Amino acid sequence: MKPNRILSYGDPRLSVKSTEVTRIDQKMVDLVQGMFELLYIVPGIGIAAPQVGCNQRFFVFDMNRRADPGGRTPVTVINPVISAKEGSMTGEEGCLSFPGIFVPVERAFRIEVKGIDMDGKELVLEGEGLFARLIQHEMDHLEGVLLSERMTRWDKIRLRKEIRAIEKDGRKGKNVF
Ligand SMILES: [Zn+2]
Repeated sequence: MKPNRILSYGDPRLSVKSTEVTRIDQKMVDLVQGMFELLYIVPGIGIAAPQVGCNQRFFVFDMNRRADPGGRTPVTVINPVISAKEGSMTGEEGCLSFPGIFVPVERAFRIEVKGIDMDGKELVLEGEGLFARLIQHEMDHLEGVLLSERMTRWDKIRLRKEIRAIEKDGRKGKNVF
């Protein structure tokens, strides 16, 4: 079944460590398609499976989204592993599960990630800047680690009302499958 919404912070499914994908079946193909449909509606560039209630290790993204809003460069990464990283950068980061919140987060500047694609073929991607940030952010989701755990204590205090409001909504989250 296709996902119809993105879970908000507060939903317990976002805090679970996801398990490896062992089989790319029709259910997963439909799910991935639904995730891209969502991605092209919401103002985001990536969605991790836990954000649609599926605790399996994969995420989808489209880096082209900002440069060319009409263009489509969909990428799915299954069972990703970060194989190299270097440097560091601090920049604004947001998350679809924390609508309206952007906070500075420190990440590695350059990253290489290995995984498999929807055809079951090995995939190696590398890049820096926004790409590196996106990959590290989505990988966090697969570990059940959320933006709220990456922000500084000061940002947590400064944004506590907003975060609490999102959490309240998230707790009421319905199962979308
Ligand atoms: Zn996120």
